[in-house]
Amino acid sequence: MKAIDVIEKKQRNEILEYEDIKYMVNSYVKGKISDKTMSEFLWLIYNNGLTLKETIDLTEVMIRSGEIIDLSGLGAPAVDKHSTGGVGDKITLIVSPIVAAAGVFVPKMSGRGLGLTGGTVDKLESIPGYKLDLSRGDFVRALKKVGCAVISQSDKIAVADKKIYALRNEIGAVDSIPLIASSIMSKKIASGSDVIVLDLKVGKGAFMKNIKDATKLAKTMVKIGKAYNKKVICTLSDMNIPLGRNVGNALEVKEAMDFFAGKHDKRLYDLSVYISALMISSAKNISFRKAKSIVINLLDNGHAKNKFYQWIKSQGGDITKLRDKASKYIVVSDRSGYVNEINCDEIAQLVFDLGAGRKKKTDKIDYACGVILNKQLGEKVNKGEILGVIFYNKKVKDMETKFANAFKIEPKKVRVKNIIIDVIK
Ligand code: URA
Repeated sequence: MKAIDVIEKKQRNEILEYEDIKYMVNSYVKGKISDKTMSEFLWLIYNNGLTLKETIDLTEVMIRSGEIIDLSGLGAPAVDKHSTGGVGDKITLIVSPIVAAAGVFVPKMSGRGLGLTGGTVDKLESIPGYKLDLSRGDFVRALKKVGCAVISQSDKIAVADKKIYALRNEIGAVDSIPLIASSIMSKKIASGSDVIVLDLKVGKGAFMKNIKDATKLAKTMVKIGKAYNKKVICTLSDMNIPLGRNVGNALEVKEAMDFFAGKHDKRLYDLSVYISALMISSAKNISFRKAKSIVINLLDNGHAKNKFYQWIKSQGGDITKLRDKASKYIVVSDRSGYVNEINCDEIAQLVFDLGAGRKKKTDKIDYACGVILNKQLGEKVNKGEILGVIFYNKKVKDMETKFANAFKIEPKKVRVKNIIIDVIK
């Protein structure tokens, strides 16, 4: 077989066989075909799409390109959760201990942030001592002891995806439903969980900007899951405004601590309870209603909070020494009214410029910087009242104006929509 034959087949819009896809992917991983040739192939997929069968074949080839974790020895179902990434998205820090406290295993491999959206790994690294690189044996031991364990994405899983995803980023071919679906699902399936809950973010602060495309992506991922006998449930959640009140690595860990102390931002609470209940109901085969009441109980009786601290400690983290040293700048409102919009991109850009994000994988980040939104969507604010606080170690030009301008404050309140848009299973 030759790469040119596969490329010409795709140019003629003929259906690719498993062997064609396997050849292209494996040859690229082995360095037998160049970035240029693979880019051409990826561009054809980007422009012409893939059938479901081709998408499943691509997923299969990427799964087989690395290790496949076997979690059958746990003796109980394991549930994974994946978010497509958003601004202020600390859901993993909250739902993992809740679900573990309900007796369901949560083995989680997370990524670092790249670009404007933060990654769970960076948030956890703001806790001194927290070990993200547990060996396979220690990972399973931590999981058995605590019920949840969160480590960084292994380089050995879906090796082909890693290389192809990097190339897609370079050539601007990320935004393709079959490529995204196979990329996410290859990692999730190879990670070994029986149930996978995907939180697909939709809106200005997400890579899926509209509900139509997000629904199509969700349906594709659910179908891939079915082909592997995995239960896949996909929530579509709103990411037009930051999630919760805090944006920035250590600040988001603090918000998770506040959450377990009973201080909840409403949208963050709604989404956390919803996703936890979906994970528990699917793993235990109980109704969503029953699972939701379990979640609320675990939050009210402190068991979820205890599990959160047990988990951080079990992975070596000392949360009392959070890397959160920063100066504070308080921003007050120059007008009265209702917060009808908070521009997600502008907040994300400010937090990024303060030093919380990285352009290249090797960039160093500032764990302590970020912002707290004292006022959230739909809330009333008076002139002179605090809108929020900027935490910085390095000032950004006009940072207070940039922060204030992200808030749209109007005399009349606009209805706040539910954070959960849809569920696809
Ligand atoms: N996240 C992934 O893991 N892969 C994609 O293609 C897009 C988002």
